[in-house]
Amino acid sequence: MIENGLYDSFGRLIRDLRISITDRCNFRCLYCLPETEEAADFFRSPTRDNEPKPITRSWKPRSHFLTYEEIARVVNVLAKMGIHKIRLTGGEPLLRKDVPELVRKMCCISGIQDIALTTNGFSFKSQASELLKSGLKRVTFSLDSLDRGNFKRLTGRDGLKQLIEAINYAKELGFSKIKINAVIIRGLNDHEIESLADYARDQNLIIRFIEFMPLDSGRSWQRDHVMTGLEILNRLKERFVLEPLGLEHTASTAKRWRFCDGKGEIGLIMPVSEPFCGQCNRIRITADGKLRTCLFSHNEHDLKTIIRNNTDDNGLALWLREVVMKKEKGHQIGQKQFQQPERTMSAIGG
Ligand code: SAM
Ligand code: SF4
Repeated sequence: MIENGLYDSFGRLIRDLRISITDRCNFRCLYCLPETEEAADFFRSPTRDNEPKPITRSWKPRSHFLTYEEIARVVNVLAKMGIHKIRLTGGEPLLRKDVPELVRKMCCISGIQDIALTTNGFSFKSQASELLKSGLKRVTFSLDSLDRGNFKRLTGRDGLKQLIEAINYAKELGFSKIKINAVIIRGLNDHEIESLADYARDQNLIIRFIEFMPLDSGRSWQRDHVMTGLEILNRLKERFVLEPLGLEHTASTAKRWRFCDGKGEIGLIMPVSEPFCGQCNRIRITADGKLRTCLFSHNEHDLKTIIRNNTDDNGLALWLREVVMKKEKGHQIGQKQFQQPERTMSAIGG
């Protein structure tokens, strides 16, 4: 029973799990936790009749978080059902204590082939070698600007230097396939598209440009903030000769290109302009133990209660199957009926 693949009602096989290990963050990215004056100013810009709404976020008490033992138990069951890829995220995952301990636990689980971490990099250096030793192979850093002032405006933190040092250190230590995520927002960092691509190419990093999604805590997202993947690609094509690459795998979220000399890779993640819901093979667990079947779900499922009720592995597997059958067909961004979920990106885990 447990060993059968985990399918949803649309026939999608779930293989990829994102685990948020904390909802806390030491950054205030304008597209995620826009709680700075700069963010308010940007969203209040005179060309947009859009007064920022008051922020209602509050951190969950740490005591509400799933423990590492609980996370490992769920992953163990999910691995038997076909999950093979894990990404640790947050909030800022490296604000949680002893992340290497969690990675070690994951590495012991048969069937888990890939464990990755997404981080803002600020606290990476001090934990990097332990993370590598624990078995973490892949890291994605969020880097939206190479200009110190603009970086601060975007993230609320004067942390560009630390982030660049973290990336260099990850390379030095030997992490493989290091990725950069860059969210591009019109009028804010779209003038940096080419320099970000240049930087990634020079440093032998894989860069993913991501469309801004309506998951910000200020609920200030508007369609015209979004630099679409196509716009980004057209800009890049004016500067570089690019060749399309195939999908990494069938459920890949990124459309990929490489530079014609073969050095460097660019990916576009276009959830707004070209949704990839039909191929989505992901589920997510929040730090406080809710299972979410879509980034934009309005319903979440109380995993923590199930595992704290002494449910055995077969019972847990059955529950997981039932929940996954409720996975949404897709998000509805751009449609009249779209409503932003209550949980923001930082509390879901990107
Ligand atoms: N704090 C870590 C970091 O920033 O890398 C991990 C969590 S963060 C929520 C994960 C990814 O989500 C980041 O790469 C970030 O750029 C992206 N992200 C956050 N809010 C977003 C939004 N509204 N639209 C698109 N991507 C977003
Ligand atoms: Fe924090 Fe990451 Fe959100 Fe930025 S994107 S505020 S670093 S959780």
